[in-house]
Amino acid sequence: MKALFVLAPLFLGLVTASHANEPHHRQHGAHQHGQVELNIAIEGNTIYLEMHSPGYNIVGFEHQVQSDEQHQAVKRALQLLGQADALFVFTGDVCQAREVDVTTELLQPVRHGHGEFEANYLFQCKAITQLEVIDVQLFDFFPNISEVRAQFITDKEQKIFELNSVQRKIRL
Ligand SMILES: [Zn+2]
Repeated sequence: MKALFVLAPLFLGLVTASHANEPHHRQHGAHQHGQVELNIAIEGNTIYLEMHSPGYNIVGFEHQVQSDEQHQAVKRALQLLGQADALFVFTGDVCQAREVDVTTELLQPVRHGHGEFEANYLFQCKAITQLEVIDVQLFDFFPNISEVRAQFITDKEQKIFELNSVQRKIRL
């Protein structure tokens, strides 16, 4: 788990820098329902993937859970989001999840009223050079997701992929 948290500030730095002209980006309450943000960084044979999603996309609400039913829905969602190898499919199975950390604001009071889910994944690849496509399966698990905005970062380049339920492949 350590590596993920070491990398988190790096992600934040890059994301903040690249969105300097979008003051509302990633501020609480300013997310767009239907949209998921992915940050993908590759370092050697390791892929760090960070996901942010409005609660709406995942469970249909964004306030603190108020009923057993809502609590169950959130628990189930956390479990689904933990199935990294089902959500992100790498060509030829060259990469597999090694660490997963999923959290949500919905289990506590949501002050700004727009609670989110956050997931951090670490994938280990046999040979990163064989990796051509990441197939993002989130749309099948969470039908409220209409768009995935994937920011892809290596030490050489930075790219943005806009995915939807029809075009769901990140081609590297
Ligand atoms: Zn919201």
